[in-house]
Amino acid sequence: MATTKRDYYQVLGVERNASPDEVKKAYRKMAVKYHPDKNPGDKSAEENFKELGEAYEVLSNPDKRAAYDRYGHQAFSQGGGMGGAGGVHDPFEIFREVFGAGGRGGGGGIFGSIFEEAFSQDGGERGGRGRGADLRYDMRITFEEAARGVEKEIEIAKLQTCDTCHGSGAEPGSKVTTCPTCGGHGQVAVSRGFFNIAQTCPRCRGAGQSIEKPCRTCRGDGRTEKTTKIKIKIPAGVEDGTRLRSSGQGEGGAHGGPPGDLYVVLHVEAHDVFQREGTDIFCSVPISFARAALGGEVKVPTLEGSAVLKVPAGTPSGKVFRLRGKGLPEVHGRGTGDLHVKLYVEVPTKLNLDQRHKLEAFAASCDETTHPEETSFFRKAKDFFK
Ligand SMILES: [Zn+2]
Ligand SMILES: [Zn+2]
Repeated sequence: MATTKRDYYQVLGVERNASPDEVKKAYRKMAVKYHPDKNPGDKSAEENFKELGEAYEVLSNPDKRAAYDRYGHQAFSQGGGMGGAGGVHDPFEIFREVFGAGGRGGGGGIFGSIFEEAFSQDGGERGGRGRGADLRYDMRITFEEAARGVEKEIEIAKLQTCDTCHGSGAEPGSKVTTCPTCGGHGQVAVSRGFFNIAQTCPRCRGAGQSIEKPCRTCRGDGRTEKTTKIKIKIPAGVEDGTRLRSSGQGEGGAHGGPPGDLYVVLHVEAHDVFQREGTDIFCSVPISFARAALGGEVKVPTLEGSAVLKVPAGTPSGKVFRLRGKGLPEVHGRGTGDLHVKLYVEVPTKLNLDQRHKLEAFAASCDETTHPEETSFFRKAKDFFK
């Protein structure tokens, strides 16, 4: 659980392939929920609101989104390619842009209707038997594990249905009646200026029930914190930032409500030798000056171990050889990428006397046939050397 900055897709609660429309919709819904005007003095709501603005700013811009998909938060960190994404723009300004209405301070009627709209959408989640929270787990895996797929077992502590009361929150054998204050809804309406807020019932705290004697194990919540081992199957070919959903493995719902989901966000470690782009992998391999000139066989690394590359005589430095099918599998099983091996000529250093003399003799024997490029370059550039 290393990462401190949340995934932007997670922040907005959208899938990685969400359309621009879905991103906007998600932002509208969440931004209204966490707007500081609606949560006065609530620091965490303010943080959420800022985070939402940042996430929306990146995911609503095709260039920034592409950079984020590829490099994650690093794309926007100091010295990163794109310059800052967060902190630069005022989250209120983003809010105004999206809603075309008052940001801070509120625009009266318009604002009210925005809030009401949001409330009617997610009112259901606020009941006593709410669905449990979604959880996020950040997992580091190696390049090889991402390439081949792997099964991992993780251990997480989370709220789960209480064993004593089986989620009801009532001490076994005690009486449970409908809450007289909210009539079992778990919510009561409270008027706040120009709009109505549905608030958790203060008497039953959202449960909708009056419990004669709360369960002693969970103190009436219906859940207790327990540590669970969960097996996570990681398919071959996953990329850095991939989010895997483990349905129903999130936090248990209060008072017997359904559980949330667990999202495992994968962080693929960099490899010493290989770089990756989609399903293709790239590596650079040094080759001696003599081998490049004479041709021969070069052993190159692959994901499975190694392969032998036949190098023709006169291979120039920087030449790329493609080994078909030696890349990574596509995560949905649609084919396999290639391995691109770039050879670069290593110029010999620290020659002994004998080698030096041989190389001098070699150099003296060279002419325009042995170095055609050098010859033609200096012919073209002769005006510069008068
Ligand atoms: Zn209990
Ligand atoms: Zn109640």
